[in-house]
Amino acid sequence: MESRLSIANPIRTNAIIKKFNLRAKKNLGQNFLTNEQAINGIVEAAKLIDTDTVIEIGPGIGALTEKLAQKAGRVYAFEIDSTLLPVLDDTLSQYNNIEIINQDILKVNLVEFIKEKNISGSIKVVANLPYYITTPILLGLLDEEIEFDKMVLMMQKEVAERITATPGHREFGSLTITIQSRMDSQISLMIGKNSFFPRPKVDSAVVTLSKMKTNKYEIENFAKFNKFVRACFAQKRKSLWNNLLNLLGRTDEQKAKISNAFEQINVETNVRAEQLSINKIKELFDLLDI
Ligand code: SAM
Repeated sequence: MESRLSIANPIRTNAIIKKFNLRAKKNLGQNFLTNEQAINGIVEAAKLIDTDTVIEIGPGIGALTEKLAQKAGRVYAFEIDSTLLPVLDDTLSQYNNIEIINQDILKVNLVEFIKEKNISGSIKVVANLPYYITTPILLGLLDEEIEFDKMVLMMQKEVAERITATPGHREFGSLTITIQSRMDSQISLMIGKNSFFPRPKVDSAVVTLSKMKTNKYEIENFAKFNKFVRACFAQKRKSLWNNLLNLLGRTDEQKAKISNAFEQINVETNVRAEQLSINKIKELFDLLDI
């Protein structure tokens, strides 16, 4: 009877927790999804087909993993907590297309991993992230020389809002540009606190990042561009002008160079970085020849 229910069904989750005498570890961001609709929404956003390979981060007790395995060709799930391995062995025993890897995702070289596994077809990252390391995980996924077809990631609502923000808004910052310059982004789903066990303190949202059809902003060196973007927003309350002087040096020559570039892109010297579109920031990057 028990095994016919999805893992995310609260009755089944409860039974699993009892059976293995589990205690959710706060320090590992363990909040297990107990809302099947939310899980279905995440899986739908990933638009999985049977030739897709999924990389999941933090399978927990397997609630999302089992649904991914039902749609994708293969699922590789990285879980740091070794006490969850026997649980996953049990809850996912009927699937032969799942591999659980007991590793800290922040220490995994995904380029090597994908090479080793000889993965062909689309690779998608789907996860209910451990929120305490959302940003380093995101930056790691973007830094790699891999082109993920899609990333469907559940995170704290506020971070999702930063990622999908538009210019002129307080949330629009370096994380926004680092991500939006590489992938198209949208919020697919909002998920309330009651969808988890234990109930978290924050609301959640699912962000879908999709591969761009073209390199829209014609960025050749993302590492260099991202460094520039971080400098533009280094002191958020200060003007872009000031942040750029800190980056380039406060000499007359640099002042003239910035002034000239501002004139060419037609912005005032008191503008803040958050007021500029990604296109303008990119133009500035090119003009300053950093
Ligand atoms: N996917 C499950 C679900 O939706 O119910 C659990 C999600 S829970 C929010 C986050 C999971 O990430 C936990 O299982 C936790 O142990 C795992 N985790 C935390 N830090 C990790 C890390 N550095 N590398 C891999 N997994 C990690």
